[in-house]
Amino acid sequence: MQNQPMLLRNAGHVLTGLPGEAARSPARDLRIEDGVIVEMGRGLESWPGERVLDASDCVIYPGWVNTHHHLFQSLMKGVPVGINSTLTPWLKSVPYAFRAAVDEDFLRLAARIGMVELLLSGCTTIADHHYVYYPGMAFDPSEVLFDEADALGARFMLLRGGATRARDAEEGAPAHLRPETLDGMLAHVQDVAGRYHQSGPRPMTRVAMAPTTITISLATEELRPMARAARELGVPLHSHLSETVSYMEHCREAYDRLPLEYAAEHEWLGPDVWFAHLVHLADSERDMLVETGTGMAHCPQSNGRLGSGVAPAPALARRGAPVSLGVDGAASNEAADMLSEAHYCWLMHRAHAGAASRPRPEGTGEQGADAVTVEEIIRWGSAGGAGVLGFEGVGTLEPGMAADLAVYRLDEPRYLGLHDRAIAPVVSGARPYLKYLLANGRVVVEDDAIPGLDMDALRAQALDTVKALLRAA
Ligand SMILES: [Zn+2]
Repeated sequence: MQNQPMLLRNAGHVLTGLPGEAARSPARDLRIEDGVIVEMGRGLESWPGERVLDASDCVIYPGWVNTHHHLFQSLMKGVPVGINSTLTPWLKSVPYAFRAAVDEDFLRLAARIGMVELLLSGCTTIADHHYVYYPGMAFDPSEVLFDEADALGARFMLLRGGATRARDAEEGAPAHLRPETLDGMLAHVQDVAGRYHQSGPRPMTRVAMAPTTITISLATEELRPMARAARELGVPLHSHLSETVSYMEHCREAYDRLPLEYAAEHEWLGPDVWFAHLVHLADSERDMLVETGTGMAHCPQSNGRLGSGVAPAPALARRGAPVSLGVDGAASNEAADMLSEAHYCWLMHRAHAGAASRPRPEGTGEQGADAVTVEEIIRWGSAGGAGVLGFEGVGTLEPGMAADLAVYRLDEPRYLGLHDRAIAPVVSGARPYLKYLLANGRVVVEDDAIPGLDMDALRAQALDTVKALLRAA
């Protein structure tokens, strides 16, 4: 039931998504009413009519917020032709090669698989950068995506992608490869925002203006009108940027600018903008992100998988730039869930910092193990994400905030012997049993399963669809 009051009791640890000392709450019980945390403490008594959820020995995290995904790719995992490719050839041989297959049924199934995977990792807010739009489509992908999220009970944000310039545009290209017009894109964003964009506290659905890649997908003179149209509508701006060195090469050749200089010149920086990746940044570009409050969707697993590099997320976060976590599409991240992402993030930045250590005296000696802490990664993946997406009242566990939270049970041998069980979901590298997942105060996962979801049918549909794709290839 949507609004049944609840009392979560006896948690072993509660991590909050807040900074510093507040990252760990002394509370063991949380009271929830109308989708909001109303009280946190120890030894809270249950009230009549409350459902009591036992969290004994469990670890409670804020619901993860995923700030960059491409759900349509959830049926394009591990495609052999792209498995050892860098971004540019991979884009051509995987997501663009399968673009024609993305009809309504395909998108619905792919979205469901991706969302189920995320929910079972403890994610309650999903932002999907969907860019398969073209003139004359037989269906509106936006509706499919909002529908699927609503059925599963997750908060959902559509990052409405697309392009007015096609990659390698050819005369007479098939319909699914044709670019849109700027007016067509803007009219659709206005329509979708009118139906789904909520502001104010604890929104369930939001929309962003999100051309696929601002340095490639739009004509230069279209960037500023698009940014202005978004600000007029009150929706934020999102795009891919600086994922590989080729972004810098392309920007230098085409515009004689660094990618972030190009963005700045066309009003594409600010606290209402966040970019996916931001791996390759000049020092001056880092300063621009910090000074303007422009956010990052950090996608470490995808950056590792495609050999793109290591984004300077810890350095930017230390200087106050907004950092969040995104899984990116499953065609470039075969573990597109938030716990995998957090675990890899934790290790990657330590390895990266350690790789820079040199023997003393001229070098630095051992270093790297303090590159990023578990608490920081949880913060990026919860409050940080809600901040860049503009989900007000979401992302931390405190009274007055949305009751979005994951209750992990640590029963497996891997969790036995831990001196600090609070860190297990991030450091131990597997998905713990998810006893409960609450989104907006509603139980959306219980006993590691999604009530009402036929997982066998989902498996069978996925296998059939991949077989059909292989036959068609
Ligand atoms: Zn992406």
